[in-house]
Amino acid sequence: MEPMIEVTKNRMENEVVTADTLKMWKDWRWQAKNTIKDVDTVEKILGINFSKEEREHLEEIIKIFPMSITPYYLSLINTEDYKNDPIFKQAFPDKRELHIAKYDMVDPLAEDKNSPAPGITHRYPDRVLFHISNVCAMYCRHCTRKRKVGDRECIPSKEEMEMGLEYIRNNPVVRDVLLSGGDPFMLSDELLDWILGELNKIEHVEVIRIGTRTPVVLPYRITDSLVEILKKHGVIWINTHFNHPKEITIASKEALKKLALAGIPLGNQSVLLADVNDCPRIMKRLVHKLVENRVRPYYIYQCDLSEGLEHFRTSVGKGIEIMENLRGHTSGFAVPIYVIDAPGGGGKIPVMPNYLISWSTNKIILRNYEGVITTYQEPSDYRHNDCDLKCDLCNLQLKLHEGEESKIIGIAKLIADYEEVITLTPGE
Ligand SMILES: *Cc1c(COP(=O)(O)O)cnc(C)c1O
Repeated sequence: MEPMIEVTKNRMENEVVTADTLKMWKDWRWQAKNTIKDVDTVEKILGINFSKEEREHLEEIIKIFPMSITPYYLSLINTEDYKNDPIFKQAFPDKRELHIAKYDMVDPLAEDKNSPAPGITHRYPDRVLFHISNVCAMYCRHCTRKRKVGDRECIPSKEEMEMGLEYIRNNPVVRDVLLSGGDPFMLSDELLDWILGELNKIEHVEVIRIGTRTPVVLPYRITDSLVEILKKHGVIWINTHFNHPKEITIASKEALKKLALAGIPLGNQSVLLADVNDCPRIMKRLVHKLVENRVRPYYIYQCDLSEGLEHFRTSVGKGIEIMENLRGHTSGFAVPIYVIDAPGGGGKIPVMPNYLISWSTNKIILRNYEGVITTYQEPSDYRHNDCDLKCDLCNLQLKLHEGEESKIIGIAKLIADYEEVITLTPGE
């Protein structure tokens, strides 16, 4: 039997393995090199057999949307009931992926359209998304960038990255750079060290964020040397992507602990997925496990309108139901924000139950999580301070100079006293 298959089977069955085997298993490069990309190997490891028809279907899908599973992630699957396993469903192709629904889009978030420089998506006033990797160890079946999965298995060249960096250098409004991909942690330590160093040199970049799923699918990537590099370069926040409590294992806990103890604030972005985590009890368990490991639940995403994801999508009502079951019922910092990333590049829009039931001139009516309906009496003598951007509060305390602030846009602009705009007119 191929050594990788044997080791993975052993790990699944929690069999004692030799020190050498364990060392190999925990080597992230070994894991990345040995990702499982064909149905045969999955069959051998899980001890299952697909029918001829099923196999043909699966192979057809893999040609369009390739498969790649780390031995570690595959070893978390419960072989007794693999079809219902949340790990299996996120990692293994499903014939429904070939179904293109009426509203499916290739690039629903218009990331390619809103790109002013290679790798850069600049949608919000003060922050950019910077794709620095085309590589992932595990291809999530629900990937919003499914169009690109497996496209070009390469890390952009330094020259290409340099163009993105140049864009950031030339745009002083960018105070937050979000490194994404692919998975930024699939880059070598040396390359990460270089790019983080370059970003940290840019004076207006106040924070760097890294979006990575390695703590979930390849926790051994979080090595001591990687952590040393992350500690070196300014303020770094990390967002990871746990979708199910089952993904929180001894190995992933170790990875999270290393990052947290290095002083890196950790967040989590989940995607709401039908038959994986579309359940208030599962989500509550997940957020509890996250905070127990120093990870702050940040977002729950409504599944995007990318092609081939329809079978993963839930109704929006399911998301609201989950939020209804979290807010008030558990620690406030364990409650993420449920968002819909607007198709067409509209950005993330929060959605939640209505807590504000009604209001009058100086009284609002609210309801809490228990259904208690209550009132809040507003002050009757609150005087609105007409803002001309020059009042003493600003001048004395903020000391902001022009150019330091991004321009006011959107609804905030309609509200601003110093703006003359009274309507926002749709562009088309
Ligand atoms: C999600 C996203 C961001 C970051 O949004 P936050 O709400 O600040 O986390 C920035 N740019 C793009 C294009 C995004 O999709």
